[in-house]
Amino acid sequence: MKFIIKNYGCQMNVNTAAKINQQLLAAGHVVAESDEQADAIIFNTCCVRNTAEQKILSHIALAKQLKQKNPQLKIAVIGCLSAKRKIHGVDILLGTEDAMNVVEKLGETLRPLPPEPTSTAYIDITYGCENYCSYCIVPFVRGKLRIRPIEEIRAEFNQVKDTAKDIYLLGQNVNAYPNFPQLLAKLAQQSGDFKLHFLSSHPKDFDIETIKVMAKYPKIAHDIHLPMQCGCDKILKLMNRKYTVADYKNIIRQLRELIPDIHITTDIICGFPGETDEDFEETVKTVEEIKFSAAYIFPYSNRTGTVADKMENQVPFRTRKARATKLVEIMRKMS
Ligand code: SF4
Repeated sequence: MKFIIKNYGCQMNVNTAAKINQQLLAAGHVVAESDEQADAIIFNTCCVRNTAEQKILSHIALAKQLKQKNPQLKIAVIGCLSAKRKIHGVDILLGTEDAMNVVEKLGETLRPLPPEPTSTAYIDITYGCENYCSYCIVPFVRGKLRIRPIEEIRAEFNQVKDTAKDIYLLGQNVNAYPNFPQLLAKLAQQSGDFKLHFLSSHPKDFDIETIKVMAKYPKIAHDIHLPMQCGCDKILKLMNRKYTVADYKNIIRQLRELIPDIHITTDIICGFPGETDEDFEETVKTVEEIKFSAAYIFPYSNRTGTVADKMENQVPFRTRKARATKLVEIMRKMS
């Protein structure tokens, strides 16, 4: 069978897609050179932003047109979008929890396989999230926080530690892992020529112990992705982020004190409901003060079912975009 995987969204999706790819290849299937040549098209989806959702739906619609010409073509839609909505006219629809079953559903026996030697390895340590940031769809589509058993993490880690250059521990909020600094320290003491990274962190759960462990063990990379989302206390409260700008700056100060060469990246949402020009200028000021290595800046995207979607004072889309463009430009100049 010739297959194509179309992957969208976060690093956890990249990880799932890589595993599916590996299992299909190990089962003797090959990657198709084009959609027209494929026997199966697998969409590993994301619905964090409305633009992503619309893009994926249009790509699925194109695949459905191909299916009309070639009824043997199998279309599988897995991941967040399939957990959120029904998609008609496709063969396989699986949410995030059973996404890996797509291999079995495509007619193959699912069996655990050793990971391919690779220079980068990704290991899930938590699934789901229950922080309910008011703009975010993830808790609704990925479910409550689940902690992966330590034995499973260790086993996967042992399989890759001697071949991977970079190993990423993944979760929507890795700091929610019980005693995360201890996990990090244990893994960082294993043999192997690797660098250990983790994604994503939540400022409300990120603590000084994690920073101390990062500073202590040379195998832990000096990079951190710490989504700030906005630099204004009024909006952070409306976002239900549970930290203040002062808390966030305090973490940055501690990181830089203990790890002078730390590389800090962040995410920022512009034009959240209720954000005035003055609120936005506070975010600009915070960004200028902190001097991130990089920032992923997005206009706020409404997600049906979230608290923020029902808030009053929605900011017009052109204002959201203009603010995001302004901040991108400020970041560009600073970098
Ligand atoms: S921490 Fe907040 S933004 Fe991140 S996945 Fe959970 S609810 Fe969404």
